[in-house]
Amino acid sequence: MGVSFDKVDGAIWLDFDIHHSHHAVPEAERVAKLKDPGFGRVFTDHMATVRYSQDKGWHSARIEARSNFQLDPAAAVLHYAQEIFEGLKAYVREDGGVNLFRPDANAKRFWNSATRMAMAPLPEPVFIEAVEQLVRIDRAWIPGGEGSLYLRPFMIANETFLGVKPSSEYIFGVIASPVGSYFKGGPAPVSIYASENYTRAAVGGTGAVKCGGNYAASLRAQAEAMDHGCDQVVFLDAVERKYIEELGGMNVFFVFEDGSLSTPPLGTILPGITRDSIIALAKSAGVTVREELYSLDQWRADAASGKLKEAFACGTAAVISPIGKVRTTSGEFLINGGEAGKVAMGLRKQLVDIQYGRAPDPQNWIRKVF
Ligand SMILES: *Cc1c(COP(=O)(O)O)cnc(C)c1O
Repeated sequence: MGVSFDKVDGAIWLDFDIHHSHHAVPEAERVAKLKDPGFGRVFTDHMATVRYSQDKGWHSARIEARSNFQLDPAAAVLHYAQEIFEGLKAYVREDGGVNLFRPDANAKRFWNSATRMAMAPLPEPVFIEAVEQLVRIDRAWIPGGEGSLYLRPFMIANETFLGVKPSSEYIFGVIASPVGSYFKGGPAPVSIYASENYTRAAVGGTGAVKCGGNYAASLRAQAEAMDHGCDQVVFLDAVERKYIEELGGMNVFFVFEDGSLSTPPLGTILPGITRDSIIALAKSAGVTVREELYSLDQWRADAASGKLKEAFACGTAAVISPIGKVRTTSGEFLINGGEAGKVAMGLRKQLVDIQYGRAPDPQNWIRKVF
């Protein structure tokens, strides 16, 4: 594609220059902000950045004060949306240490996303080091209790050029945002709207990578769901327009009366790390998990017959959200009487207990930062 990644493959490690912020938020203000941070509005004092150019490869790795980027108005990302991101969390353990959950899986997915978007892939160890260094310097920003520090690695195309081609320059960054417990008093079941007007992804497209463009394209469908009184949109496949794919930013699972689980197969959906972890947890408990196509019509029929017991959505931000109601243009149906189900809640607890270090970690998912 005209971009050489030789230098990338060479640089598997970079040392980060650490520059402490001179305008860190005073402690009292930070404590006040951590009381009820919500999601994605409060940010820590620092950020990680690494630069890429075609001739230097990845270079200038820094931990520095969080600040604005200088972007030329012709920077490629502003025109052709060459942008990818990740999302993972740091959790405070009861012993005061700090856990990351499967950061290697995020690093790998980031590499895959970069490759699909013709961007310079970032070596996985550099991704993990950037995340860890940021967590270390901003340790005081991680809420205790059921809160966590949401980490947002991202990469933008920074070449000043309006021609359409892969950029020759990139900025990789990591920012961090303290988040409260996503749901106060346990997760409330969500209502979802099956979109007939919009699809999210097609075979050969970018559905399986975490790029901002996918989200931009989903916002209208999400607005449509809200116009119909629902919390979230669920997308159907783009070919037959009948199989369930996923929500705008979460994967889905179905729970059947025989105790088995099913979830849509990989391909056009985003390969969620929560999805993968739930499959592993269920299988290790002897539960059958099928990765198979499941149609909206079948879902409606199984909910009516009682064959389907529960459905839930999953992702890093909310972990597991039970689905209480499904709305379509031809009416709506309830799942589990609109209540949160036992299987969803049990899996949620198992996963959260591992993340916070309250349960054994047989799969080696936890990486301790402290
Ligand atoms: C990030 C994301 C998910 C969930 O992935 P996790 O790794 O579990 O957080 C699901 N669907 C989409 C479209 C996403 O962008």
